[in-house]
Amino acid sequence: MGIEERYRRVAQQVAQTAREAGRDPGEVRLVAVSKTVGLSGVEAALAAGARDFGENRPDAIKKKAGEYPQARWHFIGNVQSRRIPDIVQCASLVHSLYQERHVARIDEAARRLGKVQDVLLEVNVSGEESKSGVAPGQAGALLRACEPFANVRVRGLMTMAPQGDKAVAHACFEDLARLHARLRDGLDAQRADAFDELSMGMSEDWQEAVFAGATIVRIGRAVFDDAFDEADR
Ligand SMILES: *Cc1c(COP(=O)(O)O)cnc(C)c1O
Repeated sequence: MGIEERYRRVAQQVAQTAREAGRDPGEVRLVAVSKTVGLSGVEAALAAGARDFGENRPDAIKKKAGEYPQARWHFIGNVQSRRIPDIVQCASLVHSLYQERHVARIDEAARRLGKVQDVLLEVNVSGEESKSGVAPGQAGALLRACEPFANVRVRGLMTMAPQGDKAVAHACFEDLARLHARLRDGLDAQRADAFDELSMGMSEDWQEAVFAGATIVRIGRAVFDDAFDEADR
């Protein structure tokens, strides 16, 4: 099966799962994580209707966003200070902000470009050492630290679940959804309106994420890797 067919199938499955979860399929955005493929892979997904792509390296997002500016580009990788201007130039949404020291730099880069940078706060819900993200108990402080910066708009939260156990992944996603609701309750009306995104769920666990309230799923292998099939889920 080629990328076009895989993308269409995954998009249908995401919409179907949203319906099964009693949700409007329009509430769940599919970000095709194209980090393992080149321009031709992106081209194939675009032809199948993909409009949102995720990349985890500044060089790759720069190259691909430059080539396909009609798509929305999501930065999902580790943010490094010196690459912030490149990231801000390309990304419609940065999913992976968790260091307070980066907020002022993102604000500055966005101001220079005359944009407001939408960001998500990455939360390490599971507490695994291999994962980046702010601890759940620190997310509120990070959210407040963003408030003085007019060119940074916090749109919600992002997490990655531990791999290998769907029940654990589901619990992790529900924790993030609860944290999101709690933080939103503490915001003023305008900020609360914008704080409406939950980025969670990858090839192996996106269904659990949709049931837990994901508004964005980030799917790589199920779209781009021919070796990934139903049996892997
Ligand atoms: C690679 C990656 C994904 C996609 O993972 P798959 O298992 O290939 O679907 C999602 N989110 C982040 C942050 C990633 O780095």
